[in-house]
Amino acid sequence: IAERSAPLRGQNVATADGTNVSVLANIALAVEAQSAFAHGADGVGLFRTEMLFCERSQAPDEDEQYQAYSEVLRQAAGKKITIRTLDIGGDKPCEFLNLPKEENPFLGYRAVRMYPQFHEIFTTQARALLRASAVGPLNIMVPMVATLAEIQWLHGQFAHIAQTLQQEEIPVGEWHLGIMVEVPSTLYLLEKAANYLDFVSIGSNDLAQYFLACDRGNPHVRHLYDYRNPTFLALMRDITQRAQAAGLAISLCGEMAADKQMLPLLIGMGLTQLSMSASAITPCKEALTSLDVQQCQQLIEAAIACDNSEQVLELIGQFMRAQS
Ligand code: PEP
Ligand code: MG
Repeated sequence: IAERSAPLRGQNVATADGTNVSVLANIALAVEAQSAFAHGADGVGLFRTEMLFCERSQAPDEDEQYQAYSEVLRQAAGKKITIRTLDIGGDKPCEFLNLPKEENPFLGYRAVRMYPQFHEIFTTQARALLRASAVGPLNIMVPMVATLAEIQWLHGQFAHIAQTLQQEEIPVGEWHLGIMVEVPSTLYLLEKAANYLDFVSIGSNDLAQYFLACDRGNPHVRHLYDYRNPTFLALMRDITQRAQAAGLAISLCGEMAADKQMLPLLIGMGLTQLSMSASAITPCKEALTSLDVQQCQQLIEAAIACDNSEQVLELIGQFMRAQS
């Protein structure tokens, strides 16, 4: 990290006109938390827990998971931490579950859709997470949610598991429940979801794949898989605004958050929590300090009015040149 960046490392940043923005880290292992904080992360916006489960012959037990989650919360020392429940299936296989091969894995049996059948694995993770909340405030986030029924089920499950822990006299601290917004249907669920959830986080990697109907790993459709597409930007803006109107906290944790060219658009949409790989944090904080929210709002509206991504990039180029 360059010397000139040092002052931004340990502190929250604001745009030039004073809007505070949290710049958080995406991590995949508990040990990465320390380096994320050393890179200036204001918290962890996405702890992907798949690594704990994959490439082994059986699922980690409650204590092993509790150790991993509570280590991150200890390192955080009160900073915001969001841990995501298991997101297996699709492009993320898991040996010990012995799942049959599917023709359309991305549209198939994945993540939250598996929890009722693999209920013990789900409950064990939920117990470990809720126990870890005694170490520090914890956001628990569930991937691949598509329906209100899933949200209601999750709400009931977590409430029940928390109550069971209390009956066992096991301490549970402050925790909040949220979902990834990565299936387009969730846009129209946000108002109803707010009765059950505290926050949502846009998973732009999957959201773009499902919105534009193109496999995120297929090179033949790479040209379509584009988060700069004006229709996708309109979707993101609408999600952000509807979530805020419904009283849900909202963040972005897909790769798009680390793309510096996208930053003024994200700020223009109204996002104030961005989660990205640790190495992108300091450059993002630096870029944020020179942005003006009102100008960013005008930019996102102009970007949405564009015909295609090339025009969007041209517009961003002009915006950046005008700033420097
Ligand atoms: C996403 O889909 O944007 C996301 C952050 O989750 P993952 O890349 O792990 O599917
Ligand atoms: Mg995803």
